[in-house]
Amino acid sequence: LEEQLRQAQKMEAVGQLAGGVAHDFNNLLTVIGGNLSFVRADLPPDHAAQADLAEIARASDRARTLVRQLLAFSRKQVLSPRALDLNEVVRGAEKLLRRVIGEEIVLETALGRDVGIVLADAGQLDQVLLNLAVNARDAMLTAQHGHAGSGGTLTLETGTVTLDARTAPAWAPLAPGRYVRLIVRDTGHGMDQTTRAHAFEPFFTTKPVGAGTGLGLATVYGIVAQSGGTVRLDSAPGQGTTVTILLPEVEAMPREGDTGSWPVPTPGQ
Ligand code: ADP
Repeated sequence: LEEQLRQAQKMEAVGQLAGGVAHDFNNLLTVIGGNLSFVRADLPPDHAAQADLAEIARASDRARTLVRQLLAFSRKQVLSPRALDLNEVVRGAEKLLRRVIGEEIVLETALGRDVGIVLADAGQLDQVLLNLAVNARDAMLTAQHGHAGSGGTLTLETGTVTLDARTAPAWAPLAPGRYVRLIVRDTGHGMDQTTRAHAFEPFFTTKPVGAGTGLGLATVYGIVAQSGGTVRLDSAPGQGTTVTILLPEVEAMPREGDTGSWPVPTPGQ
């Protein structure tokens, strides 16, 4: 399970990196390839440099093929954003989360009533919960910052908040509106200031080699940002950690099986 988790985190991060890098590379390779063909056309066919230029052309073609494969790979991570009830997502993940955190940690859930619908990929939200639970577990089972490392409580809380221009917190550069809130709180060893400052960076980890990839929070950040939300960390050494995620609430859409259709058909069609 641990190995699968780490693998999933890596794939997600690699996919995102690959997509971004491949796009830029593709543009650069187009410039290289284009100018190369001008130079070759300008030189007489029997020019001594032609063989070397042909070699460069082959290498750049090969690079383009590799980039295409990279792009194909990153696109393979097909996301299917759907209207999701966050409470259902949390309930659905509970069993797995309990298995991840083990016996020494108590899982408490405080699911709000009428928590709104979010538009997100269910698999990605599971990944968010898992990554945060793994971090919480590690923080509660590792002795550090005066914490005994003998367990604790992991709390999952859901609710809804309305942000207007006045109440929007400075850390949440979000448009005014209604947001669904997920809070993941642990009673673990917490973070010092440096760790907190770097925690979301890909590959930043304070865990021993092999134990952490440094991709957990970077992945969480990426997923939440993709869904139009934001994430915040509150943590201090010995004080535990609270992760707060806000996701925009969307109007509930009729589900399959509902009577009536959506979108409403235009008369005469
Ligand atoms: P990893 O867990 O692989 O180290 P993350 O990106 O998930 O990577 O976390 C980066 C670092 O942030 C961790 O190594 C740890 O120092 C710190 N961290 C993350 N979550 C917590 C938490 N709940 N409590 C204390 N420290 C945390």
